[in-house]
Amino acid sequence: LRGIDVMRDPKLNKGLAFTLEERQLVGIHGLVPPCFKTQDEQVYRVLQNFYHFESDLDRYIYLIGLQDRNEKLFYRVLTEQIELLMPIVYTPTVGLACQKYGLVFRRPRGLYITINDLGHVYEILCNWPERKISVIVVTDGERILGLGDLGAQGMGIPVGKLSLYTACAGVDPQHCLPIVIDVGTDNETLLKDPLYIGLPQKRTRGEKYDQLIEEFMQAVVKRFGQNTLIQFEDFGNSNAFRFLEKYRGQYCTFNDDIQGTAAVAVSGVLASLKITGKKLSENTILFQGAGEASIGIAHLLMKAMKEEGSSEEESLSKLWMVDSKGLLTQGRPSGGLTEHKMTFTKKYKHMSNLEEIVREVKPNIIIGAAAVPGAFTEQIIKDMASFNERPVIFALSNPTSKAECTAEQAYTITEGRCIFASGSPFQPVTVNGKTHHPGQGNNAYIFPGVGLAAILCGIRHITEDVFLATAKALANLVQQEDLDSGRVYPPLTKIRDVSASIAVEIAKYAYKHNMAAHYPEPADKDDFIRSQMYSTDYSSFVPDRWSWPKL
Ligand code: NAP
Ligand code: MN
Repeated sequence: LRGIDVMRDPKLNKGLAFTLEERQLVGIHGLVPPCFKTQDEQVYRVLQNFYHFESDLDRYIYLIGLQDRNEKLFYRVLTEQIELLMPIVYTPTVGLACQKYGLVFRRPRGLYITINDLGHVYEILCNWPERKISVIVVTDGERILGLGDLGAQGMGIPVGKLSLYTACAGVDPQHCLPIVIDVGTDNETLLKDPLYIGLPQKRTRGEKYDQLIEEFMQAVVKRFGQNTLIQFEDFGNSNAFRFLEKYRGQYCTFNDDIQGTAAVAVSGVLASLKITGKKLSENTILFQGAGEASIGIAHLLMKAMKEEGSSEEESLSKLWMVDSKGLLTQGRPSGGLTEHKMTFTKKYKHMSNLEEIVREVKPNIIIGAAAVPGAFTEQIIKDMASFNERPVIFALSNPTSKAECTAEQAYTITEGRCIFASGSPFQPVTVNGKTHHPGQGNNAYIFPGVGLAAILCGIRHITEDVFLATAKALANLVQQEDLDSGRVYPPLTKIRDVSASIAVEIAKYAYKHNMAAHYPEPADKDDFIRSQMYSTDYSSFVPDRWSWPKL
């Protein structure tokens, strides 16, 4: 590339950082204002712009624009200011951006494959300009965060998740591909919205839908290779479980809502034990919600309890679940017990009020993942604080508007005694002079590191063991000072280092257990992983030159 095309290519564009020599060499001299700014100086301008906007949605639009213009600068700022920017490019603002995608839409990003393209998925994948793709995040938009069916506007989620692959784990953005499978939407508001960007029709379900997913999986492998990591994201409940079962042994794939969430929540629970001094199996754990997140977490907890020496029966007796029809009990009159829930049903009287259930079960740990805002009432939090010296309260539902309770409610009602984490970020809370930093129990701590290891080591299948190993690795990264401030996760500011450390642990694990396909095995895994991470430094357009001896 030469000339203006270099400036128009977000991967090559350096803004005002082109040197005089580069401007002359590339043929853009005069097209750039006659001033020279380092990347650092441009970071300052980006932040000034960022603060200038009044709404988070405007900030989102600005940042995506930057990503479209000057990719290295975007990732530099995102990496450096992760605590400030993650709530914009990811939960909670990304949820709003998806709801308003018709307005937000500027330039396409990612690939759209629709039900009308059945039989032609491979051709669409071939239209993507990059040949080497390492990781795909795909959604069909049916359950975007806790916001429900947003159809093709769910694209914001794969885009946001993949930005984190790069910002948190240094996966090269060129090797990332966001995809929406558009089979329609059942969201009436969107169907009537003139700004809706997807197919204006009801969801296609059943055989034809399954055929499209099947064709998609095969086409990905045909186009990008067997090792392509395919992350399923924000699919509706029954499809999420079905596809995970169907594809986990066949492809390099995982479901982030089931497995990534499981790992992050289990990690938080393991870290909480360092505060409560209990064994895992000594805890009674109550879930509000019995969906992808809760079922995933419960299964991984069982695995962890088994390692601790508990029998399946003992473990199950510690795990209680509540869905929209009440406590999961055997043969309950309200029905609604799917196969996945059956494992967790209890022989117990049927109850449906969460406050009553909490009083009856007296959990040590309560985990919310039902997207019912305010489900953890003052009464529930009070009761948790009365049964437990250090109650563990995880309000995992996203975005913030769906949280079971706020950090402030949890800390003030328990007089600062609770161990709190939430799916979306909350500000620190001061109670009686002590400041508590809520941890963010979000799978963003998990998927970037696991993905990086999977890509670099050629892990063929991402097993449950990998997720348990990840949960333990993350819990081990929590420092005493974090625990002292009531936080069961490392601070977000360290997430890049955390992701790299997780990737190193998983790389070690994968080679040890014969799960890695890439050889030779790197001797120093830490060095290997870190050396492969994407650099946000601009590259030089001036080639190295040297002279040869005179004859
Ligand atoms: P899901 O599979 O659709 O499950 C939702 C569950 O909530 C279902 O079991 C549903 O009951 C239950 N529910 C709905 N209304 C209820 C009510 N009034 N009382 C009790 N239970 C109720 O969704 P999911 O994937 O588990 O996600 C749920 C939430 O978790 C979302 O807000 C999502 O953003 C959040 N999440 C957070 C993270 C994170 O990293 N923090 C990761 C993944 C998901 P039925 O089964 O009876 O319908
Ligand atoms: Mn998700």
